Amino acid sequence: MAVERTLCIIKPDAVEKKKAGAILQMLEAAGFTIVACKRTHLTRPVAEGFYAVHKARPFFGELVEFMTRSPVFVAVLERDNAVAKYREVMGATDPAKADANTIRKLHGASVGENAVHGSDSLDNARIEIGYFFPASEVAPVA
Ligand code: ADP
Ligand code: MG
Repeated sequence: MAVERTLCIIKPDAVEKKKAGAILQMLEAAGFTIVACKRTHLTRPVAEGFYAVHKARPFFGELVEFMTRSPVFVAVLERDNAVAKYREVMGATDPAKADANTIRKLHGASVGENAVHGSDSLDNARIEIGYFFPASEVAPVA
């Protein structure tokens, strides 16, 4: 299985609850290498750009308000089959529907405030990683 990278955002709700460390620990335990990680407070244009695909959705305004409320951690995760594996570890969008022991089941509060973001495809993972990290910060080890 190919080694992949995917983008993780630990959202404001989880950072406010001091769960960033617990979530990163779960990811390491699930076999991911955290190849880059930073704490940042998303501005409105950055959040709107990141979620541009959802612009027409009724929850877009709420989503941008939430994501800009307080700082997030943005991380690049690496392992074999990382995109699908991280979606599995993350759990369903709605924490109430997420499998037991997933990040969203354990740390999410609602369908909006669901603790983490994860890329949904390898193509989007590449775009999302590039949105937050210059190539020099995520270069493979020589
Ligand atoms: P996922 O994050 O699981 O890939 P989506 O891409 O469908 O889910 O949605 C992006 C984010 O928008 C969700 O993680 C959540 O924060 C928010 N969201 C999705 N659906 C709703 C909803 N019905 N009401 C409020 N917020 C939502
Ligand atoms: Mg999505």
